Amino acid sequence: METILISVDNSMDNENIYKQAVDILKKGGVVSFPTETVYGLGAVATDEAAVRKIFEAKGRPSDNPLIVHIGNAEEVEKFATGITADAKKLMKAFWPGPLTLVFEMKPGQIAPNVTPGVETVGIRMPDHPVAIRLLRALGEPVAAPSANRSGKPSPTEATHVLDDLDGRIPMILDGGRTGVGVESTVLDMTTVPPTILRPGNTTQEMIEEVIGPVQNEVGEIEKAPRSPGMKYTHYAPDAPLFVIHPDGRKLEVAIQTLQSEGKKVAVVGPDEMQTDAADWYFSIGSLHNHEAMASNLYRALRQCDMTKADIILAVETDLSGVGVAVMNRLIKAADGKQYSDRTE
Ligand code: AMP
Ligand code: MG
Repeated sequence: METILISVDNSMDNENIYKQAVDILKKGGVVSFPTETVYGLGAVATDEAAVRKIFEAKGRPSDNPLIVHIGNAEEVEKFATGITADAKKLMKAFWPGPLTLVFEMKPGQIAPNVTPGVETVGIRMPDHPVAIRLLRALGEPVAAPSANRSGKPSPTEATHVLDDLDGRIPMILDGGRTGVGVESTVLDMTTVPPTILRPGNTTQEMIEEVIGPVQNEVGEIEKAPRSPGMKYTHYAPDAPLFVIHPDGRKLEVAIQTLQSEGKKVAVVGPDEMQTDAADWYFSIGSLHNHEAMASNLYRALRQCDMTKADIILAVETDLSGVGVAVMNRLIKAADGKQYSDRTE
């Protein structure tokens, strides 16, 4: 299959491009499109055969549920029940935006393979002009995970999608770099109080300001995953990745030790710790700017894949605000490995 990548520049009349994308989706095909978090790979969420193509194109394990994207907040009523007053407050405060809300599912609406193994459905309304225009032109809910091959970092640029899925999908809408850079916060509204299953740009503090205390199961998820996708090692680059404390001296010693073992070292870290000692240093923004670090993280992990690095060191961020989401993705990319615990 030939993959077409088309730029949807806001300054142009793109009527025809959206029409083409809608046609593909209506006929049961998949289309990649930008959201404010990462690029998604979408299919009509009520079409089981179409949804199957998402799993095939990505090589995604079939027990990992997909998020349903809607173009108008009111549509949530069509697919979910148990929409509490708190949920309504959150939708009002954060939709459109990078917050997925998990509800009990209204039976018979969404294709069963969107929500394998669960009785719930995760829904969000993305905050991106291309995604919203596509969803509204289509008039159907779209199931969409990130548009990467399973196990690769999520795509934050259209070319990342092409690198992973060229020849596997018919169309990529190129809307430039995504802003947020990490996947949406997932908040389970079926528990009392609600539970954060995945941290993202909509932080715990922001949520609690609107509805009061929530639980945070992110640390527990590796033990007994309630959010099925959480058990997979996501986001990993090719070379083994270790997280390392944000200490310039320790970083230099680590680099020298590894190089003395004949290893080439790539580092993903903040501007402040940039060092020529590394064979490659990919700077993702100031230590004090978690939003920038989130936005640049996946591109940096992909850049590591383009080097000949034998090992990647990723510098820890502190756990405030969006730093929680950055560290969550780094720990996954590292599969939990800390440089200080390294034994080989
Ligand atoms: P992705 O679309 O790749 O960002 O992954 C979506 C993730 O959201 C899944 O891997 C799950 O962890 C989570 N998720 C989606 N739907 C549900 C649901 N109904 N219940 C719990 N977690 C969900
Ligand atoms: Mg994903």
